[in-house]
Amino acid sequence: MNDTLRQAAALSLPLLEKLRDSFGTSPTASRSVLEHLHAVQAAARAVPPPVRLVTPVAAPAPVIAAPAAPVVIPLSTPAPTAVAQEETQSGTTAWTLDSLRDAALKCVKCSHLVDSRTQVVFGVGNPHAELMFVGEAPGADEDAAGEPFVGKAGQLLTKIIQAMGFTRDDVYIANVLKCRPDMPQGAMGNRKPKPEEMSTCLPWLEKQIELIQPRVMVALGATALEGLLGSTAPVSKMRGRWLEFRGIPVMPTYHPAYLLRNQSIGEKRKVWEDMLQVLEHMDKPITEKQRRFFTQTGDRS
Ligand code: URA
Repeated sequence: MNDTLRQAAALSLPLLEKLRDSFGTSPTASRSVLEHLHAVQAAARAVPPPVRLVTPVAAPAPVIAAPAAPVVIPLSTPAPTAVAQEETQSGTTAWTLDSLRDAALKCVKCSHLVDSRTQVVFGVGNPHAELMFVGEAPGADEDAAGEPFVGKAGQLLTKIIQAMGFTRDDVYIANVLKCRPDMPQGAMGNRKPKPEEMSTCLPWLEKQIELIQPRVMVALGATALEGLLGSTAPVSKMRGRWLEFRGIPVMPTYHPAYLLRNQSIGEKRKVWEDMLQVLEHMDKPITEKQRRFFTQTGDRS
């Protein structure tokens, strides 16, 4: 019996049973047919579920011993942007971060987000920052405050920044998407930005980066990695390795929200090792105590 017939036969018995239960009268079938159906159904139950092939992910190399010079993996950089084009077409001289902010705050390119947002969340921090963090999109707290990373994940990011020896005012913090992704009425939580939302909004971030010219950037999570570098590879594979955005070294790492969901010391240590690489690349002094954070002997566990 071929597979299709076997499946059909395996389904017949439950249907006959349903007919019997629904109408109180038993549908007729010969004893030999019923015996055959029982045998087919038992055989169908014995078939194991299909095996899913999982590609093994190579364990990331230890990062503390990384060479001083970053290993740069070139990725395609998006083409010149809408913001840059508007700038030249309108004959405007140069953008400043303030004029860019003013323009971004009035952006109406995604009408659905204009309707749902409280305000545009442009970015915050030192306009001359050496270090820039890029996240995904504002959440409800950021939408209300007008500032990126002020909710629970943001508070964790602030702790990471402080553990590195900086304050929020020393660095610059921005998102790929400047508006909170809208949610269905009554739905809780956040949704990931859609590709078209990201590509529409990206020119603002590109111009921010161009104006700030940070020495190093940190891409927080998969959306930042995708928005900045077009890479859809999992963060677990990409973190800890230097990438590059228009000549600026980018360190991908886990989003702080991931750390809130996975509170193991091992995952915290991975992010911390990525930040140690950032500090090393910036030639910042690192204390022995800092090196041991999130190890069994260090604190901050
Ligand atoms: N998550 C982000 O990616 N950005 C924020 O601003 C807040 C939470």
